[in-house]
Amino acid sequence: MIFHVLTIFPEFFEGPFAHGVVKRAQDAGRLEIRIHNLRDYTFDRHRTVDDRPFGGGEGMVLKPEPIFLAVESIWPERAAGQKVILLSAQGRLFHQGAANRLSQEAELLLICGRYEGVDERVAERLADEELSIGNYVLSGGELAAAVVIDATARLLPGVLGNESSAAFESFQQTGHSEGLLDCPHWTRPADFRGWKAPEVLLSGNHEEIRRFRKESAIEKTARLRRDLMKEGPESGE
Ligand code: SAM
Repeated sequence: MIFHVLTIFPEFFEGPFAHGVVKRAQDAGRLEIRIHNLRDYTFDRHRTVDDRPFGGGEGMVLKPEPIFLAVESIWPERAAGQKVILLSAQGRLFHQGAANRLSQEAELLLICGRYEGVDERVAERLADEELSIGNYVLSGGELAAAVVIDATARLLPGVLGNESSAAFESFQQTGHSEGLLDCPHWTRPADFRGWKAPEVLLSGNHEEIRRFRKESAIEKTARLRRDLMKEGPESGE
């Protein structure tokens, strides 16, 4: 899968994808992340990407021309499976279900807004969808793009060491979590400062361990995220 990111801060992405699962997946050729500098699609001396909002008011707005030009240069003819996503506080909420859906695409192009946001014609005429990573306002779309890429990339075949491990994570409809939270985990030492790991996990009885994990996932979800116990946790769909 190929992820494109359109940003005025390309150097931002030197960090997030240089470690762990996503880095290994890139090295193994399972995914590619291409960062594009929005200023490369401007023609004036100052490489201007923003302008004042019509109607007045605070701040600046990212202009449509460089964004349209960038997308049209990256994909001169857009094929099915090539999706443009605008990161926006006003978008639909990004969820595990949306990550699953996006992981089926061939290429994603993520547009990172800045300042007061992006000229609305980008949302209306260019983007396939607007995605928000939560009900709060970030300074830019870069962190949101990194979140979307990370959550999507780990669902691609072969990206996680163990093929089945994504199925057992929180929010997935598969595995013991069934859309709920993952079960809690413990590791050595079995007794840490007098706080003991549950005996059953040391018993070697796989059926009991499976049952315990399922029950503890349900208990933890009920305690911390009761909203997930209702129908349709994947409201990003
Ligand atoms: N004026 C906008 C509003 O109130 O909705 C906020 C603009 S924000 C300061 C600048 C950029 O950050 C946005 O264009 C968007 O790309 C990104 N951004 C901010 N919050 C976000 C969120 N929750 N999810 C995704 N992107 C976000």
